[in-house]
Amino acid sequence: MTVYSYSRINTYYTCPAQFQFRYIERRPSPVAEGIELFLGSRFHETMEYLYGQLDNKVPTVNELVNYFKNHWQQHWQTSLQKQRDRGFKDTLRIAKAGQTVEDYFQKGQLFVENYFHQYHPFDQDKTEGIELKVAFNLDPKGQFKMQGFIDRLGRDDSGTLWIHDYKTSARKMSDEDAKSEDQLALYHAGLLQNPRFGAKEKYKLMWHFVAFEKDQVVAERNPKEIDWLKQKYISKIETIEKAKTFPTKTGILCRWCEYLTVCTDGTAWVRSKGGEVDDDSAAIKEATPSTSSASLTTTEVPLPEPVAATAVPAEAIAPRSTARKKSSRHSVSPDQLKLF
Ligand code: SF4
Repeated sequence: MTVYSYSRINTYYTCPAQFQFRYIERRPSPVAEGIELFLGSRFHETMEYLYGQLDNKVPTVNELVNYFKNHWQQHWQTSLQKQRDRGFKDTLRIAKAGQTVEDYFQKGQLFVENYFHQYHPFDQDKTEGIELKVAFNLDPKGQFKMQGFIDRLGRDDSGTLWIHDYKTSARKMSDEDAKSEDQLALYHAGLLQNPRFGAKEKYKLMWHFVAFEKDQVVAERNPKEIDWLKQKYISKIETIEKAKTFPTKTGILCRWCEYLTVCTDGTAWVRSKGGEVDDDSAAIKEATPSTSSASLTTTEVPLPEPVAATAVPAEAIAPRSTARKKSSRHSVSPDQLKLF
């Protein structure tokens, strides 16, 4: 029996062909790992370190930023080696036009500093779990199973459990969209079946869009909405399991699809919109940037772009010439989009 994740289900509804490539054929990605995913992983590790430390001490901002820097350095070399082993000749892909590796490194530090100053001394709630696995049934018979991982679960002074999720994307979800965003609501459904928590608890959902000065987006679901959500996902799984064909679904997300270079329809769509598909390294040069400030609401204040990279460890970043060369490439999977 397949245990579904939110992202597995979401991939099918984004594009059935992409679902087929990834989950049925299990094709390895024909393109290198995106730097956004790399940055997101380093930020998540830093949050794990921060909240894992709090029982003993509150780290200083310098300790936290140094943790981020050190982990960036350690993982950078490992990731490069992984790319080489997979036959990719360059560094990790850079998704956003005009950005360099140094920019991402600086952004990551800025995210960590901003988070620290917003939440220090981190007593808004007490951590009950980090990277907490939730596995649950959508139906009473257990025929439809899902699982996922909560970035952090915290309990505030009033006893409410907060399901936290960290996003390093340049786009912030609106409060309105949060009311219908399913991923954290599914984790809420999962915790209801966890004997440690269950229906006796009160739950709230909190996204942290750490690229913004005010990073929080908050929502909650009532029991009726949770039941409705479970029915909705049963129906989605039934549709996936009945599927006999997996047609392409071209659109804006093709620009970020990791399978673009092996997908004739996607390539044709991107070229029809003026984008270039770079055949030699399976990357795309976009015609227009995908995440512009125009996509933000006027009340949202993104953090300033980082200043010139004066303190980037030489061994932690790609040679400047390579970074520039790849800066216009655009190929991030919808999973990465979800993360960013
Ligand atoms: S390139 Fe577009 S149509 Fe092709 S698999 Fe990817 S998302 Fe689907």
